[in-house]
Amino acid sequence: MHIPPGAWRRTAAGAGLITPDGEAVPTIFAEMSALAAATGAINLGQGFPDEDGPEVVRDAARRAIAEGANQYAPGRGVPDLLDAVAEHQQRFYGLTVDPAREALITVGATEALAATLLALIDGPDDEVVVFEPFYDSYAACVALAGAKLVPVPLAWPDFQPDLDVLASVVSDRTRVILVNDPHNPTGTVFTRAVQDEIVRLAERHEAIIVTDEVYEHLVFDGPHVPLATLPGASDRTLSISSAGKTFSLTGWKTGWVTGPAALVSAVMAVKQFLTYVGPTPFQSAIAAGLRMPDEFFASVASTMAAKSALLGTGLRAAGFDVSTPGGSYFTVVDAAPLGVTDADAFCRELPARAGVVGIPITAFVVPEHRDRYATLVRFAACKRVEVLSEASARLAGMG
Ligand code: PMP
Ligand code: GLN
Repeated sequence: MHIPPGAWRRTAAGAGLITPDGEAVPTIFAEMSALAAATGAINLGQGFPDEDGPEVVRDAARRAIAEGANQYAPGRGVPDLLDAVAEHQQRFYGLTVDPAREALITVGATEALAATLLALIDGPDDEVVVFEPFYDSYAACVALAGAKLVPVPLAWPDFQPDLDVLASVVSDRTRVILVNDPHNPTGTVFTRAVQDEIVRLAERHEAIIVTDEVYEHLVFDGPHVPLATLPGASDRTLSISSAGKTFSLTGWKTGWVTGPAALVSAVMAVKQFLTYVGPTPFQSAIAAGLRMPDEFFASVASTMAAKSALLGTGLRAAGFDVSTPGGSYFTVVDAAPLGVTDADAFCRELPARAGVVGIPITAFVVPEHRDRYATLVRFAACKRVEVLSEASARLAGMG
């Protein structure tokens, strides 16, 4: 069958997802994990743990399969998981969510983000404000939805936005302010002043706040403060999260959206034509996970804080300047003290020089801003302690 190129690659090409030769551009995560696999290097690039999540949750999935939870779930998700998400929002944040109207289960946070942006964006005049560097799917989805991406820079080393700059870019054209907190790739946790300003600007310009809180249980000096809990925010905020990071089960791809019923319905309207529903047995199992005792959630944060500190010490010993993350899997370093001027090239050489993979921050910025982040690299701390120690030793002995 002959498919005329214009018919199938117009949108993808516009989003920068396809090369002029018609090849799909791999994500930076796929590219760097392939590099790690090909070279045998320690993969501190793509953020996935090297230990699986709680046995009780994995057991619950096996049981769900054995007991017949194998056909399509209802459109909004398995009712028990919808209930568990609502209970979770109440238990940790005091947010009241009606599980039947104000929650939706998605195929990871990735689908939640895509469906949300496709649902909320009306056309090319709509703007989506993002904090740069930003998670890679944001720019792709904004482009696929046909809107304009408006990046607000986060500068080394604390990666908090300048409030005047933020105020200057939010306008009546702003449809969505997309906030990732704790933040990937920087590990930053936004200050209360930043959060307040986001809500103030969204109210003033009638924008919708979309939060990506996949690292909500990986805040080192907690508690995590969802934007939806701030005064004036809940009516205009869609909160997105996922089981992947909290339960070290990134391959289960089970996420959710909560927020005002009308907004959640708009997301559902799109989501049902993306995937219809996500896998049933994982949903049942994640319900059990979300109901685990407080000690589990506390240990998720404290374990990651300890790993992050260990990695930070190793990176400092290797000669990098190291930022101090407040949460997430990630630590950003400046490689300039090692004579690096182009972190992109440095990351491609790193497997050969040190047997370690990291990700250049330039992968998370618009092309015009690459210079601002030219020497920064992200390393992931979500690995076993011995792996982090070995990676640190290799980096310290780098050739
Ligand atoms: N948002 C951020 C900030 C992430 O780091 C990730 C990576 N897991 C996602 C969304 C995607 O989450 P999921 O795997 O649940 O789709
Ligand atoms: N969230 C992971 C990271 O930032 C990667 C997920 C993916 O590969 N899409 O490393």
